[in-house]
Amino acid sequence: MGRGFRIGRIFGIDIRVDWSWLFIFALVTWNLSSVFSQSHSGWGPTLVWGLSLLAALLFFASVLGHELAHSLVAKSQGVPVRNITLFMFGGVSNIQHDPESAGGEFWMALVGPLTSLVLGAILLLIGGSAVGSIRGITNAAQIVAQLSPLTTLVIWLGSVNVTLGIFNLIPGFPLDGGRVLRSILWAASGDLRRATRWAAAVGQLIAWAMILAGIAMVFGLQIPYFGTGLVGGMWLAFIGWFLNNASTQSYQQLVVHDILEQTTVERIMRVDPPTVPVNSTVSELVHDHVMGTDDYGFPVLDLGRLAGIVTLDDVRRVARDKWDAVVVREIMTPANQLYTVDPGDDAADAFDKLTQNGIRQLPVVRGSELVGLLRRRDIVKWLQLHSEMFGRRRPSI
Ligand SMILES: [Zn+2]
Repeated sequence: MGRGFRIGRIFGIDIRVDWSWLFIFALVTWNLSSVFSQSHSGWGPTLVWGLSLLAALLFFASVLGHELAHSLVAKSQGVPVRNITLFMFGGVSNIQHDPESAGGEFWMALVGPLTSLVLGAILLLIGGSAVGSIRGITNAAQIVAQLSPLTTLVIWLGSVNVTLGIFNLIPGFPLDGGRVLRSILWAASGDLRRATRWAAAVGQLIAWAMILAGIAMVFGLQIPYFGTGLVGGMWLAFIGWFLNNASTQSYQQLVVHDILEQTTVERIMRVDPPTVPVNSTVSELVHDHVMGTDDYGFPVLDLGRLAGIVTLDDVRRVARDKWDAVVVREIMTPANQLYTVDPGDDAADAFDKLTQNGIRQLPVVRGSELVGLLRRRDIVKWLQLHSEMFGRRRPSI
């Protein structure tokens, strides 16, 4: 995450575009231009490329509409939404945590595909009425050739939205359909973890079916609806591989969360971590601290209080010949810009802070007094210990 750029803000939600999405944008535009120029020999290149570009942009707006529907229902249930990111396989709403209830999850998941299906149906009805007004031609290719640019655009966009809705209803977790399935299993069993395990297992099953079907297509087999061929087959297998990863990861995350919820930061953190005085030079930092350990970040103290954190990346930004002149205070991240945790905090919440912000360690503070350091690897070690002791599957982060 974080590779990409922000394009705006709607309903208080940041809209971001991942770099991989630009690739899909170009692919859709290019593919459409060849489809349009083949089906409408009378259209000039300006019309073909202009319409293809417009269609790709409206496709982007459709995916955004789908994600906004998820996000708005999430917000209406009091679940915060950090941003919506559009990437290679569509969009993702970064919703802070799962809903509290099965009913909440059900509606939050269902509203996305529902939005796509309703939008698609309306567009197809509008496009269909225009097709119906063409009289005296029965040949399908001739009818398509007669369609105006606007009708062509409306019909294409309508079918894309219907496909988007149907694909997302595939009942494999973490796709929308899998979330709907999970909410039903959750309501029936009252056990969120078991419901997630089942929905993720269905997701993996579907993912493997996609991978196998994709490979079969590469070798020339005809698969109903998907057809055959190298490009289509590889694409299907690729989506299957992506879904398989997502299913496995979502389940592991839940297991990790469950284990960490049972403990506090105080029990996992490193007590008495090596600290650096705020006025040390970079040279002292390197020789007295960095070289002696394999730590990455060091809390910086000013008269016993936490003043900030200095990391190896901060050191790397200082030229070697300036190490004796620059002091730690100048290169550290100051305390007021740091995420910190309390020793009594839930370890699961601390873990979320680490992963969501992409950081490696959290200072553990009581007031402004540093009492420890919680590193990612402390959590991994604890999880490994826990899984060895209790025979659970070893989670990977
Ligand atoms: Zn969705």
